[in-house]
Amino acid sequence: MQQEQQHPWVILFDIDGTLLTVNSKYNRSHLRRILDELGINYPNMETDSFSGRTDHDIFTSFLVNHKFDESLYKEFKTRYLDYLGNVLLTKTEQVKRHKHIDEALDYFFSGNFICGLLTGNYPQAAHIKLKAANIHRDFSFGAFGEFEKDRNKLPRLALQEVEQKYNFSPTASRFLILGDTPRDIECAKSAGMKCVAVTTGKYEREELEAHGPDLVIDDLSEPEKWFNEITKNGKA
Ligand SMILES: [Mg+2]
Repeated sequence: MQQEQQHPWVILFDIDGTLLTVNSKYNRSHLRRILDELGINYPNMETDSFSGRTDHDIFTSFLVNHKFDESLYKEFKTRYLDYLGNVLLTKTEQVKRHKHIDEALDYFFSGNFICGLLTGNYPQAAHIKLKAANIHRDFSFGAFGEFEKDRNKLPRLALQEVEQKYNFSPTASRFLILGDTPRDIECAKSAGMKCVAVTTGKYEREELEAHGPDLVIDDLSEPEKWFNEITKNGKA
């Protein structure tokens, strides 16, 4: 057991709401355009919550009023990625880079940690958004929402990625998910991983605390302080 626990902590960063925020109104205007172009009837797009959901979940839900059509889904995905890469990437003012993220990124990237992504985004979407927010870090791997509807399946992907890349059996309790929604917390708890929730997304402290994360923070400043707090409190 002790030997298993000696592998470095694996820090899993969520993207939207945690490291950056894409202007929702702007983003949805392009999603509406794509839906209209493809003749997809989905009136609820403007009011749906996307927080913490995987791209696969969000975008397949748009087809609920159609007989599921793989080619239509693929065409939607292609146009969405095309919008991100060719439009959003040139309108970087539509992407807010959150304050204090460099404090956490510097701390975890310069120490004995393995840093990865755990995000509902398609891989390509994740990389475009990070680039648009001027976040250029060499994340070791990513667990993405490309094929999974259920975010709770992503921790298993992260464990597999670490096992394959580093050639050891990873211990879930040495993984920390940094996210901004109840879904991040549930996903961490379902896998036996730690979770620090940050209030830079759409959720208030009280809402996040109700889901039982290890800690709620207001931003990613002072990472050493809060990381020590969750690893010293007997839960580590
Ligand atoms: Mg998020």
